[in-house]
Amino acid sequence: MTAGLPRRSLLLGTAAAALAAGPLTRTAFAATTARTPKVLVIGLDGTMLNRIKDADAPNLDALMAGGLTAASSLYANPMAATSSGPGWTTIATGVWPDKHNVKDNNFTAPDFATYPDWLTRVERANAALSTYVVASWAPIPDTIYSATVDTRVATPSAEYDVGTTSRAVARIRDTNPDAVFVQLDNVDHAGHASGSASQGYLDAIQGVDGQVGQIVAAVRGRATYAQEDWLIMVTADHGHTPTGGHGGSTWEERQTFVIANGGGLAAGSVRYDVRMVDIAPTALAHLGIAIDPAWNLDGAPIGSLTPDVFDALRPQLTGRVDETGIAAGVLGFTHTPPSGWSVDNSAMGTGGVTEWRGWSFTTDEFWTKTQRDQYRELNVRSRNVFAVADSDEWADKSFSGNYDTTLVSPAYPVSGLATVKVEYTCYYQQDGAQTAKVLASWNGGAPVQLASFSSLVNGRQTHTLTVPAGATNLQLRFRYTGSNNWYWVVDNVRVYGV
Ligand SMILES: [Zn+2]
Repeated sequence: MTAGLPRRSLLLGTAAAALAAGPLTRTAFAATTARTPKVLVIGLDGTMLNRIKDADAPNLDALMAGGLTAASSLYANPMAATSSGPGWTTIATGVWPDKHNVKDNNFTAPDFATYPDWLTRVERANAALSTYVVASWAPIPDTIYSATVDTRVATPSAEYDVGTTSRAVARIRDTNPDAVFVQLDNVDHAGHASGSASQGYLDAIQGVDGQVGQIVAAVRGRATYAQEDWLIMVTADHGHTPTGGHGGSTWEERQTFVIANGGGLAAGSVRYDVRMVDIAPTALAHLGIAIDPAWNLDGAPIGSLTPDVFDALRPQLTGRVDETGIAAGVLGFTHTPPSGWSVDNSAMGTGGVTEWRGWSFTTDEFWTKTQRDQYRELNVRSRNVFAVADSDEWADKSFSGNYDTTLVSPAYPVSGLATVKVEYTCYYQQDGAQTAKVLASWNGGAPVQLASFSSLVNGRQTHTLTVPAGATNLQLRFRYTGSNNWYWVVDNVRVYGV
């Protein structure tokens, strides 16, 4: 996307040019007039993407075929339970639970003042826009979405998803909404009743698919639909175990997804770097509302996401070697760094668990399946493939010597720049004798320390550096030493002039 220029402005510019060209271009003018952006987000409680694919779900299948599909994974405790309160709040706010502070369904101390729902942000940006939320699960309209939203409806429980669907359809058909959130609950109910592996769960997905179809048909049946630019997204708040239930840290309970149809997203595209926090900023961006960095969102508009160099390693990832808790078919690690990067293991001891001998490049699924409930589930800000130094897991097989590994970046050109910014996503857990240092070297000179970590860090790190006179390149080193506790994750390293 063109930096700094909203797509709507580009469309208006095209329309203005067509108008200026005179009456012969009237048809072209009509075709390029800026359409009114609108957003519909449908939340399917407790619904798993892999089971949508197993079910008879033609409406959801069509949304995927015509748009983007991304599996996304959740946190687990102690950040938050894999339950509806944290899930729907994360989707509504675009930040992870360590910011919005909804850790379970009790909503004990939520920080909605700092991190309001996206419909509230729509109203604050332009109160003339029409916003609407309807849900079968009452805490969504009653607690998560604020009173600033034009209309909030908790469907009477006797009507359940049938009533939620009919209300959403009427609102879209009979009024002129700009931004809508709808939550349907029955798939979660079926998950609790019979498990995500059951036929009952597939039947519930088939049922909710029909309701999704009714709501999408209401959008496409609007008299003004041709003059509108609808972005439709579908998501879920958590998964379910095969036998039913959620709240815990299994991979199945941590499953969510993003389906996004419209908004210029490529038909049939599949992404690994999109996460549920991207839904709110993607909706806001589609409505032409600029994302203020001061909002401190964790998500980003999907159209603005660019893969990092680690993500390109995905096709090279291989299966387990020494690990036993990961199924053999899960492809998720490599020691081979991207082109231009290297790993210095000259000070590493011998032996240990092969997968984690020095810096590895891995995925959330592979890494968290090594051992649950050791906080690896809290690595929510990494995307797709990331780098990890995990001395804890390395030490689970006999070894000798120390864990001492350094990830070395390419030499970034800095000629002509007075100041550069170094940014990276960092998740660090300290539990014993560890060191973690970020070092910078100008033109191959003696490394200068940029940062040193000795307690929990979970977020984007930024360092602003003055380029020394005569320096033409900058190389980064991420050096970690540790023992049987714990680890350091680094992702999305960016160096740029400011
Ligand atoms: Zn549930």
